[in-house]
Amino acid sequence: MQLEIAGLLARGAIVDPGTALTTFAERLVADGVARGSARSFVRCANPADFDYVDADPACAGRVAVPGDGMDDWVWCPGCERRLETSRKQRFDAIVLEPDAHALRARIGQMLQALGTPVREHPEGVFRVESGDTEAAVVLMDACDSLPIRFSLTAEQGAIAVAADRGRFSWQLPPDTPLLSVAELVLLSPEPLLAATRAALAGKPRAIVVPVAAPNAPPPPAARFPVPPGAGWQDVTIYYVDGATVGIAVPGARPVHASAIELGMAKETSLMPSRRFALLLHLCRHRGRTDWKTAGRAEEEPIAFDNFAAFRMQITPLRRDLQRLFGLTTDPFAPIGRSKPVIAAFRALREAPGEAAYLPRGG
Ligand SMILES: [Zn+2]
Repeated sequence: MQLEIAGLLARGAIVDPGTALTTFAERLVADGVARGSARSFVRCANPADFDYVDADPACAGRVAVPGDGMDDWVWCPGCERRLETSRKQRFDAIVLEPDAHALRARIGQMLQALGTPVREHPEGVFRVESGDTEAAVVLMDACDSLPIRFSLTAEQGAIAVAADRGRFSWQLPPDTPLLSVAELVLLSPEPLLAATRAALAGKPRAIVVPVAAPNAPPPPAARFPVPPGAGWQDVTIYYVDGATVGIAVPGARPVHASAIELGMAKETSLMPSRRFALLLHLCRHRGRTDWKTAGRAEEEPIAFDNFAAFRMQITPLRRDLQRLFGLTTDPFAPIGRSKPVIAAFRALREAPGEAAYLPRGG
């Protein structure tokens, strides 16, 4: 997980002093697209630390030491275990935080070089016009609507760029290029300009052609595809907070996702839908509930008038889960008026592994 130029504008990128990347990091700060601050960090796998016995020696994960008064247990981005930062050896480094406003300005500025009008609409989506043609460049970090990001980039072949690529690459179909803003700023804007020119010339850089079956539109690509042969028993969904779940499938890093990102928000208000609340509730109750239990839950109860109203939410939740994971089987055991709903996936109250850690001082 060695940091590369492309990763310098990920949120909280840690750069060691005196390395080849230090100069690049300083240039991003001088350029105004990132702020740099001196911070201490700890290494996940450090033979000098007390917790090296639990570490994957190959994990290159590092985390910045939280400020005073903050929780000093921090997730390792490399292996997803928790690190007790206050007890580990500290190293000095520069931590970069990208400036969203400056990044937008910078992308707009780069596109000016094409000599054609550029307008940003909505935020994070740059439209470049030439004659009758329009090409779109989506700065994923600045465009906060996943449906817009996804439909523009996947369906309309817009050019995708991102400062924090790791956050967005999973939202694009495989093989869709995702340009790194750090590379465009530090190395050359040419890849962006070339892609935009090609799109204006009618050769969109990313074309997604679904194979159309008569009268049956193909299902959209699964957002969290499971490996061949895997099923619901291999899917883990866990509670993160009242607006977010964590999702883990074999062969991929766990991802946090909101109702909007899962397509489970109300269309007009973008508020989490009732079925998303039900998913959170299922996680809280380890994958097992019924309509009466849901209404009596201590945390975030969801009242249902009767079993039928409950089933009316299970049905769209089933469809959403099948779509997200690309599975056609039922994510729930058969339900009935007197039978609870039981998830076929692992529904957990917290991230897997977290429960294994003793409380501090324990
Ligand atoms: Zn680690």
